[in-house]
Amino acid sequence: MSEHYWCHGPKCHTYVTTDRVRGSKGSKVLRTRKIKQDAWNEKTFYKYFCSNSCYNDFANANIERIRLVAPRNEPLETPIEDPVREKHTHNYSFGEHTYYTTTIKKIDTSME
Ligand SMILES: [Zn+2]
Repeated sequence: MSEHYWCHGPKCHTYVTTDRVRGSKGSKVLRTRKIKQDAWNEKTFYKYFCSNSCYNDFANANIERIRLVAPRNEPLETPIEDPVREKHTHNYSFGEHTYYTTTIKKIDTSME
């Protein structure tokens, strides 16, 4: 297994940061970041991308192909109990303040 990957962000080498500067005097470049492989990034997109920006650039440039990996043609649903809406009223010296909260509880279906 290689010890690093180059960031897969298509614009990584265009972002102006000092850590991307490489080359000798008179022929400097901004270079794609090298990503060290370790336990921290092995199961995340940070294995191949140096930042959220580079990940987003890649996703935006390849979105139709990415979608085809796991197309969603129907919505998914999470069962919930009927939402409970509650009115809260507080009386202050300057008057009354009323606000509402809605509690939404998921139904545990893990045993089914
Ligand atoms: Zn990058």
